Amino acid sequence: MTDVCAYILMEVETGYVKDVLKALQKVKELESVCVVTGPFDLIAHVSVKSLKELGDVVTTKLQGIEGIVHTTTCVCTDCACGCSCETKK
Ligand SMILES: [Zn+2]
Repeated sequence: MTDVCAYILMEVETGYVKDVLKALQKVKELESVCVVTGPFDLIAHVSVKSLKELGDVVTTKLQGIEGIVHTTTCVCTDCACGCSCETKK
């Protein structure tokens, strides 16, 4: 059961998108990962138990992946995406 979910927008170094995508698919907290166009290269949806755990995922798991230049984390306040988080009330 998870209480916090968020979208993590990532900027990735040119040429690293495929490698980063592979690495992200091994991070179990991520519900989904998409390669996108626009100002960001990848968007992941994450479901965790607490804000602290969200911080840990971003700082230890994601920022340790080679090729990720910058992350922007948007916490969902009213999730309606069908993920396993418990924010839908
Ligand atoms: Zn969600």
